[in-house]
Amino acid sequence: MNPYLQLARQFGGRRDVQLFVEELMAWHDEMVQHRRVVAQLGPDLACSDTCPHQTGRRLWREAREILGPKADTLIFLRACATQPVAEEREREIA
Ligand SMILES: [Zn+2]
Repeated sequence: MNPYLQLARQFGGRRDVQLFVEELMAWHDEMVQHRRVVAQLGPDLACSDTCPHQTGRRLWREAREILGPKADTLIFLRACATQPVAEEREREIA
């Protein structure tokens, strides 16, 4: 089962959690694609004020508000949201 849906289940189908998880899944797909573009073009060209990195930061803030400590299970979101873009560039090159 999709880990995001699994997480939503733990909240007993709470409406706000369900909506958040749906947005999160859409973001996840966008982010996976965006990372490929960043790997090819570099963050200077690929990233902008509206790229999925920015959305990720907002979603991570919301995750902690809505999910509390369980937000820490969102490893992909946390990694994308808390990692400065410059660091990502170094990692892609390494
Ligand atoms: Zn980006």
